[in-house]
Amino acid sequence: MPTRLSPFFCLRTLRYKGLRDTHVQTSYDVTIIGAGLAGLQCARLLARQGVNVLLVDRKNTLDQKIHTTGIFVRRTLVDFALPEDCLGPPIKHVTLYSPAHRSLELVSQHDEFRIGRMGQLYQRYLQHCLLAGAHWLPQTSYVNHSAANGKLTLQLNSGSSTHSITTRYLIGADGARSRVARDLKLELNREWIVGVESVFQGAMLDGPPQLLCFLDPKLAPGYIAWIAHDGEETHLGVGGYPSLFDPTAALHDFRSRVAGIIDLRKAKQIETRAGLIPVGGVLNNIANPTGLLIGDAAGAVSPLTAGGLDPCMRLSAFAATVVTEYLSTGDVQVLQAYSGELFRKRFISRLWARRIAATLRQPQLLELGCAVLRLPVFSRLANHVFFGRGSFPDVMSNLQPSIHSDDNRTTNSA
Ligand SMILES: Cc1cc2nc3c(=O)[nH]c(=O)nc-3n(C[C@H](O)[C@H](O)[C@H](O)COP(=O)(O)OP(=O)(O)OC[C@H]3O[C@@H](n4cnc5c(N)ncnc54)[C@H](O)[C@@H]3O)c2cc1C
Repeated sequence: MPTRLSPFFCLRTLRYKGLRDTHVQTSYDVTIIGAGLAGLQCARLLARQGVNVLLVDRKNTLDQKIHTTGIFVRRTLVDFALPEDCLGPPIKHVTLYSPAHRSLELVSQHDEFRIGRMGQLYQRYLQHCLLAGAHWLPQTSYVNHSAANGKLTLQLNSGSSTHSITTRYLIGADGARSRVARDLKLELNREWIVGVESVFQGAMLDGPPQLLCFLDPKLAPGYIAWIAHDGEETHLGVGGYPSLFDPTAALHDFRSRVAGIIDLRKAKQIETRAGLIPVGGVLNNIANPTGLLIGDAAGAVSPLTAGGLDPCMRLSAFAATVVTEYLSTGDVQVLQAYSGELFRKRFISRLWARRIAATLRQPQLLELGCAVLRLPVFSRLANHVFFGRGSFPDVMSNLQPSIHSDDNRTTNSA
């Protein structure tokens, strides 16, 4: 536990010892709205620091309404000890298809990707939160808040009843269209793509576990269509700018178009997932003295690959550090480190790549681009995009090891 926490902070923390705590409180140090990967990661780290945390989500249980494929990249797998039983088999093979289905195969020396069993992972992280003493309010929606005397009063809605709690600090982990961001007068996402996918068991695809990416401006304008197959689970999806396509119809077409590549005749569809993915880059204004944003709410998604899971892990860990320090010192300057402007500078090349991707609407142009990538001299670029280690700036590198070590590979927390 940090040494500089206020007595108020420590006394309250001592009360929480585990899963069966039924003591109903109305006042917390930190309240996190949203128990996706960002909220869960932040809540468990704050709770482990001795912070009195309330985690709120409108979902009843976290294994429902999942809206991510769940592909974790090597950098996340190396830097964070994700629970082994919540991950599928490793994937090293990627094939990129042009609109005419000409293919470019890339094979890494490393295990590059693993598809998370996300329902299981969310539940496990929730367990970590509860064991560390965090409080959990499922099936409860954040409605709004007001501020007075250095405290915030939050209106929460559980079914037909509305109740209020007070908190010293509010964290918005409530996704791409964050209500918390709006109420805190922080920045809002303005650019996003939409993704929709079907999840199957029992799909037949020749070869090792693999990721197949299809460039096609009709099926996936501004992004890709994908098959992610790890031998156990298969995800078939499309993504693109919502004004340029009908995602459900595109998914249907995509499924017919890849019938010669993947055999789904005996496969069982177990889920459909869909959601918005902010691709405008991390937002500039993501923190103030009453609250801050993490995950999709902060726009923390790679504008090029649309990967948001690595940013969730990193930015949330950083937020936990900054908030712990802020609450224990009361020093507003501490929040300056949590600056979207600073992170955003590291995204410049990927923001440009996103702008280019958004304008590529001619199949012929994409076909030409793919032909160029197949030239040996340019295939390094494709390798860099798929196997590079640059998903989100390493915001943790300047931190004191004591703050984040229990989530790091060097220990066995998970
Ligand atoms: C189809 C699709 C596929 C994707 N695939 C990948 C991938 O393979 N790899 C990758 O790296 N990224 C992927 N992404 C992006 C990635 O999933 C997200 O960036 C990441 O999951 C965001 O997590 P989060 O915790 O910020 O938000 P979310 O997971 O959206 O969690 C927000 C939570 O807040 C809750 N909430 C919202 N409003 C309220 C409220 N008012 N009150 C209470 N609770 C509220 C919601 O119920 C939800 O549980 C994908 C996205 C989509 C849409």
